[in-house]
This record gives sequence, C-alpha cells and structure tokens, in this order.
Amino acid sequence: MEVAIIAHDGKKADIVQFLNKNKAILLKENIKIVATGTTGGRAEAAGFKVKKMLSGPQGGDAQIAARVAVGKTKMVIFFKDPNSSHAHEVDINMLIRICDVHNVPLATNEATAQLLLLGLED
Ligand code: PGA
Repeated sequence: MEVAIIAHDGKKADIVQFLNKNKAILLKENIKIVATGTTGGRAEAAGFKVKKMLSGPQGGDAQIAARVAVGKTKMVIFFKDPNSSHAHEVDINMLIRICDVHNVPLATNEATAQLLLLGLED
C-alpha cells in the first residue's frame, strides 16, 4: 500500500507532527511512503523510510500524480497551505484531478488525513 505525503512549506511542521502521531500505522511493513522531495526529507529526519520524488516546484507533485494514474500510489495526504500561492499551482490542481479521475483517496487537510489513516488500521 503506497501512501504519498506532500506538505507546502507553511505546513511542513504540521505534517511531521502528524506523521509522528501516526507512527504506529505508518511504520507497518505493508505501508510504503512516497513524498515530494523536501517533505520526504523532513519525514526521513523524523525516522520514516521514504521514496523521495523531486521537490514539488520541480515536478514532484506531477511525479506523484503519475504514480496515482498508473495505480502505484493508493492514497494521497497533501497538507496544502491555503494561505499562500504557488508557482506550481497547475501541478497541484493536476494531482487533485488525477486522484478524482482514478478515485484515489486524497486528503488536503489534517482532519481528513486522520480519517483516511483510520482506514488503514487493522
Ligand atoms: P516539497 O514539495 O515537499 O518538495 O516542498 C511540496 C510542494 O510544494 O508541492
């Protein structure tokens, strides 16, 4: 089960806290984490094994969208910062659209992400 994690800069501290809070679920051996570059680096520093894509602005969101499209990534946890604008907004919207096209669960805030992770518990 591959889960993608992405956090905008204003939300990176929040996602690290969220990952730590959910370590028991996310460190299960059937869970593989894939992430955009900088978010992945933060997760690694917190002790998670992560497959890192490019940084978001360099195409990391697009790479994750491609994994969703081909059925590799089965869930996307995306801590979007609604209070900042992004040069790669089109990539972000493309990822959201691709999740909808392929009916892949996508959380864009922490409360939804928490509910999705509950679905991974045994
Ligand atoms: P980052 O990318 O994890 O490389 O910062 C996230 C994003 O901005 O989409």
